[in-house]
Amino acid sequence: MVPAIHRPAEVKVNLRAIKDNLKAELAHLKPGQKLFAVVKANAYGHGAVKVAKLAARSGASGFCVATLDEAIELRDASIVEPILVLGITPANEAPLAAAHNISLAAPSLEWLESAQKALANKNQVLKIHLAIDSGMGRIGFSEDHEFIVANKLLKDNPNFFVEGMFAHFASADSSDESYFNYQVKRFNHLKELLTVKPKWIHIANTAASIFDKDIKSDIVRFGIGLYGLNPSSNPDSADLASHIELKPALSVESELSFVKQIHAGYGVGYGSEFVADGDQWIGTVPVGYADGIIRALSGFKVKVGSDFCPIVGRICMDQFMVLLPEKKPVGTKVVIYSDQEADPNFIKRAADYTNTIHYELACLLSDRLPRTYHE
Ligand SMILES: *Cc1c(COP(=O)(O)O)cnc(C)c1O
Repeated sequence: MVPAIHRPAEVKVNLRAIKDNLKAELAHLKPGQKLFAVVKANAYGHGAVKVAKLAARSGASGFCVATLDEAIELRDASIVEPILVLGITPANEAPLAAAHNISLAAPSLEWLESAQKALANKNQVLKIHLAIDSGMGRIGFSEDHEFIVANKLLKDNPNFFVEGMFAHFASADSSDESYFNYQVKRFNHLKELLTVKPKWIHIANTAASIFDKDIKSDIVRFGIGLYGLNPSSNPDSADLASHIELKPALSVESELSFVKQIHAGYGVGYGSEFVADGDQWIGTVPVGYADGIIRALSGFKVKVGSDFCPIVGRICMDQFMVLLPEKKPVGTKVVIYSDQEADPNFIKRAADYTNTIHYELACLLSDRLPRTYHE
């Protein structure tokens, strides 16, 4: 999708906030611990290359992404630090990853066998991180037997460098620690079966680190915290207290593109779900669900000038309408998501309103919205 640079709508990213979050986390690391910045999904909507370059300059030791293509995008942008692809890359792409010095997650014996064939043909060495499923139920080794055989395959293997072993938590953002502790136990059990020696053994995401969970992890895979958002996602209870200060970095801004007065009985939007009950002022904002402002946000209040105004009617693909308290000029600033935690239109409140999490709303912001950067 081509960015709409001739439209007053943008995702504004505060680079100072991202840098401050990174510095705060670096200061919070345990002795010897490293920070890998998680910049998958276009850095959770914030812009992967821009964020990665800033993070590299500011002390990140490496990067995590979801796909091989995201990793290659960073290499093409001259990022030289280690990059780990967290998801499963087809084993036949192992040579491409090796050629770019990109580390891949190794999720199974079968995957290792296929990757080895592809690498041996070309005399290449691939860096891998053994992916462990310790209870996330997603990818990785979970059975002792398969893990033991994989370790045998890796011993003195000319095609693999075992750079890491890692697992992911299902509930590091919860106050109930029983499943978290179960996962740590499973991970430690598989760790004891290792006969190869990974350089880095890592299990911590943002939540495990900023909520000070008692675990050992050579790397913190720092994702949502980099963007200044608290990973706790239960709308019915207060966020767990972060041990570092988090500064949200993202806002979405636009302007009123059209303003009109409507009269009793006049409808707004598809299906006329809003009908005026008298003389009312309606503003149009030139942003819609194709930009990632999902239809479930109908009724949510965005800031128009200095007033919080509800989105009325169904959100269209490219536009939505707001109910204004009075006539306002075309060009009035509209803040759809605020980067201020206290604001009712903070992205986390929008996520609560739509029954999802801020991670999802940030990732959904499409390429049609240009990203602009400020300090
Ligand atoms: C996305 C992801 C992370 C980052 O999680 P945050 O909650 O954003 O810190 C870490 N590890 C894995 C495996 C992931 O998929």
